[in-house]
Amino acid sequence: MINVKDLYKSFGKLEVLKGISNHIDEKEVVVVIGPSGSGKSTFLRCLNGLETATSGHIEIAGMELTHSKTKLHMLQQKVGMVFQQFNLFKHLTILENITIGPRKVLKRTKEESNALARELLKKVGLSGKEDSYPDELSGGQQQRVAIARALAMQPEVMLFDEPTSALDPEMVGEVLQVMKDLAREGMTMVVVTHEMGFAREVGDRVIFMDDGMIVEEGSPQDIFSNAQEERTKSFLAKIL
Ligand code: ADP
Ligand code: MG
Repeated sequence: MINVKDLYKSFGKLEVLKGISNHIDEKEVVVVIGPSGSGKSTFLRCLNGLETATSGHIEIAGMELTHSKTKLHMLQQKVGMVFQQFNLFKHLTILENITIGPRKVLKRTKEESNALARELLKKVGLSGKEDSYPDELSGGQQQRVAIARALAMQPEVMLFDEPTSALDPEMVGEVLQVMKDLAREGMTMVVVTHEMGFAREVGDRVIFMDDGMIVEEGSPQDIFSNAQEERTKSFLAKIL
């Protein structure tokens, strides 16, 4: 589903990604961990075309995206992304937030998109919130709407960039639960998170990134209980 080869990304003189290569299978759930500034967000942003790689090769959901910007909107519809800050449209209702993509981009009818949105709201446990505005919802609810909005584009891959980091602790669980359900349904997912419980329970593979490189990867068991690299061990010692 995702194939990355020798991915480099610089911002001016700052080299942020220094040769990332990885292969992610359909239905795989990959958890990316690593210190702040190690390039995790930049990596995800390259995967959905929000950043253009300096060099290297990315293939995702059957599309090549090296250097070309032409298919960007097609890519962003196949690759959903959820951010730390939920980024909902404040002046639109919850229903409108979810239907705007399907209507404008996928050219679905109002009836079709509304029906899909209601189904997705049910899935994330928010039936009845259709006519609310984002500000009327808690952080956890807003993040679940953000997930529903991404799913409304019927993506083949979902990328999550620290989806629970901005939430009050009591709301983390409800968002992780939606992500777990999604994983069980077979969604291909790449998740940057510090939630090690989630990584252990749901992750098929854990990637540890540091300084723009993949230092080590393996099953959650391999990484959390039997890390080989000093950098991995010292990072885990700080967060576990
Ligand atoms: P992480 O998500 O692991 O914390 P990021 O990918 O956000 O790391 O950032 C990696 C490095 O790239 C940091 O030093 C950050 O300051 C830098 N960086 C990220 N985005 C930009 C940008 N748009 N312009 C300049 N520097 C950036
Ligand atoms: Mg980040």
